[in-house]
Amino acid sequence: MSGSVYKLRCPHCHHGLRVRNSVAQHPLLRSIYMQCTNVACGATFRGQMEITHAMSPSGCPTPDIQLPIADAEIRRQAIERENSKQVDIDDIFDSQEAQGGQA
Ligand SMILES: [Zn+2]
Repeated sequence: MSGSVYKLRCPHCHHGLRVRNSVAQHPLLRSIYMQCTNVACGATFRGQMEITHAMSPSGCPTPDIQLPIADAEIRRQAIERENSKQVDIDDIFDSQEAQGGQA
């Protein structure tokens, strides 16, 4: 697949958005650049992806990274999403590296 289509939708035409590039702003924050997959639309966007909680602790923690532990509601939502089989975010950045993009 050439670029991944995440579950983000174009706010204009509601077709899928393809992540074209991403830039690290901070260890917990990336800016992402997206393009609508509808050739008749062609809109492009910038957004952000942020790590907000730890679902389980790291086996090799970094002292500078302090995150709240996910509560029961966040865990319940994660289980529901896992069952719905969304595209894994690692697939997005893996495909960008293969294309020579910044990831
Ligand atoms: Zn669009």
